[in-house]
Amino acid sequence: MHYPSWPVAEWQPDLPKGRIDNIYIHWSAHDYHEVFPAYHFCVALDAEQIMVVNTHDVRENMRSVYDSHGEPYAAHTRKRNSFALGISVMGMQDSKPDDFGPYPLTDELVDALCRVAARLAAYYGVPIDADHIMTHAEAALRDGYFGTQPEQRWDIARLKPDPRPLVPQDALDAGEELRARIRRFS
Ligand SMILES: [Zn+2]
Repeated sequence: MHYPSWPVAEWQPDLPKGRIDNIYIHWSAHDYHEVFPAYHFCVALDAEQIMVVNTHDVRENMRSVYDSHGEPYAAHTRKRNSFALGISVMGMQDSKPDDFGPYPLTDELVDALCRVAARLAAYYGVPIDADHIMTHAEAALRDGYFGTQPEQRWDIARLKPDPRPLVPQDALDAGEELRARIRRFS
């Protein structure tokens, strides 16, 4: 499957106009390369270059997705996909809070993700605050499924591995750091 993609620094998307209220930030829990249409934009590695890949049409989430059955949309964040974009950094396969595994987050990948978020937030007028731009981990915290069990989510509650047990404050701290980095790119 071929999706539109750009080196992150050259990304000049022709974004459709419409209502977007929220942006949710994820990691894929796979390798650095494989991208997924559950998100609208994926930050991936192609050879050594960081790419932005548009894996889902933004317009399909510019509606109350739970009102109409059968119409496709990007299902990135449980119960929160209406008027919402999902963006994701590829990586973190087999990661644990104290060991990020063979495809760990890097500063360069996280910066690319924040650059994508900043551009989308500016275009759609989404405020850069914890009610409008949050990680999947923060959404999971609010909705009762934060954690490392298979049916739980902790992306992106840590930017670096740490031997301390994972706690809800990790999600809030990582969310604040990501929003600060997004502001720097806006
Ligand atoms: Zn997620």
